[in-house]
Amino acid sequence: MRSKVLLWPKRPTPLLYYQLLHHPPVYYHAYYNTSSTSTTTTHHTVPPPAPKTPSPAPLSALPTRTFLRSLLFTSVMASPLLKPCLSLLKYMVDSNSLLFSPAKNPVVNYLLRRTIYDHFCAGINEREVRNTVQEMKSLGFKGVILGYARESIAKVEDVDRIQSAEEKQEALDRAVEEWRVGTLRTLGMCGRGNYLAVKFTGAGPAAVEALSRGDRVPPPRIQEAMMEICDAVAAQGSRVWIDAEQQIFQGAIDAWAVDLMRKYNRVNRADAPVVLNTYQAYLKSSTARLNEHLQLAQREGWAMGVKLVRGAYIAHDHRDRIHDTKADTDRNYDHIVESLITRQYPLGGEPGQPFPKVRLFVASHNGVSVRKACALYRQRAQSGLPLIPVEVGQLQGMADEVSLGMVEGSTDGAAPGVFKCLAWGSTEECLHFLLRRAVENQSAMERTRDTARALRGEAWRRLGGGSVM
Ligand SMILES: Cc1cc2nc3c(=O)[nH]c(=O)nc-3n(C[C@H](O)[C@H](O)[C@H](O)COP(=O)(O)OP(=O)(O)OC[C@H]3O[C@@H](n4cnc5c(N)ncnc54)[C@H](O)[C@@H]3O)c2cc1C
Repeated sequence: MRSKVLLWPKRPTPLLYYQLLHHPPVYYHAYYNTSSTSTTTTHHTVPPPAPKTPSPAPLSALPTRTFLRSLLFTSVMASPLLKPCLSLLKYMVDSNSLLFSPAKNPVVNYLLRRTIYDHFCAGINEREVRNTVQEMKSLGFKGVILGYARESIAKVEDVDRIQSAEEKQEALDRAVEEWRVGTLRTLGMCGRGNYLAVKFTGAGPAAVEALSRGDRVPPPRIQEAMMEICDAVAAQGSRVWIDAEQQIFQGAIDAWAVDLMRKYNRVNRADAPVVLNTYQAYLKSSTARLNEHLQLAQREGWAMGVKLVRGAYIAHDHRDRIHDTKADTDRNYDHIVESLITRQYPLGGEPGQPFPKVRLFVASHNGVSVRKACALYRQRAQSGLPLIPVEVGQLQGMADEVSLGMVEGSTDGAAPGVFKCLAWGSTEECLHFLLRRAVENQSAMERTRDTARALRGEAWRRLGGGSVM
């Protein structure tokens, strides 16, 4: 219910931020996750949930410091200031100058760390990352997805310039080894019940070359490293998801991921699926690809792990293979979610057909899609209909009003578990990741404005002023 309608000033004064920082919100409280593990069993029916009154202010769960940083950042990202900030960040990413490089100038490093880095990244070492993971859990998130932001230092062009075959092989192997060690270290930080995020191109030029050739199996060292990583993931009681990338790599990524699902997702394993593959709904071929993999899973007796995204490479990829309009992508995304949750096989086909074991992760900042998925899941849970395990998640620093709204609605155990996806690494290692987040916010300006609006509303609520339009 709206008590009073107030407008947030175009330029919030330092006094306003000070007031927010030093007068903690009247309604401040943290949500503690009491959700059961009900989403982990296929063909499982969830007991009808107790009726629940949703909170009108999910962002009230954010600690004041985090809230203020989000308010500041999202306001900048939703304003004309984003463009010059983006140019400065781009300059820093490639800069070697004493003045602008965060690797060389400790002041620049500190400023970046305390601002954009803290907003989007989990920490530079294990202690910081563990603290962030703990913070997320205390906000009510079921868990986190953790990825190492460092990208391979070795580039295909650099390795190609090496004359000696032996030295070239050494450079390729070194990049794979750094990736293996970094990924296992990341797994160690994320703990039981959480997800590890893996990007195959992170393994360096050997992976990039094999993926762009469309090799159906990875080079032996990468294959061995992946098996070691998946064994460790399963032993720890975690899951791993394989990121989707540009289309030139995607055919091979799917083949490598299906091989891992075949090995680690056998239906008779209680923890299956351990491995999830990513499907990009903006691709016109995504439904056919999913059907093909569902069929394989059904025939060969393994569980499908599906992480569904819209797709992040629209600006650089074959445009004709991507849905013509945003509305088409949205429709396809929601259709895939609905078909999987209602166990239609093939997708959009008749419900009631034998359905393979599937786990779905709805990875999106789009509040409409996420809420639709959660409502459908809840409706089936309340009607005692068969369910597949479903989880939802957003990136750290993005769409907190969506994430926390879902957390609020998930505490009765009849809704999907909510996750935050975190990246860790030093300020320099995270620069490319940070740049991508800033660019993403620029291209999804409407959504960023929605988040900024929700944060301004929360600011007024904390000041006791009522809701904002
Ligand atoms: C936890 C998490 C993990 C992710 N992992 C991956 C990954 O592994 N690989 C990957 O590629 N992406 C990944 N993404 C990013 C994702 O693909 C989207 O780019 C991003 O989340 C924005 O889409 P959205 O669903 O959040 O919502 P929205 O903001 O509603 O959708 C924006 C998206 O719609 C699509 N779109 C925009 N304009 C058009 C148009 N004119 N025609 C057709 N389609 C259009 C694009 O995909 C664009 O990114 C991930 C996102 C999250 C939250």
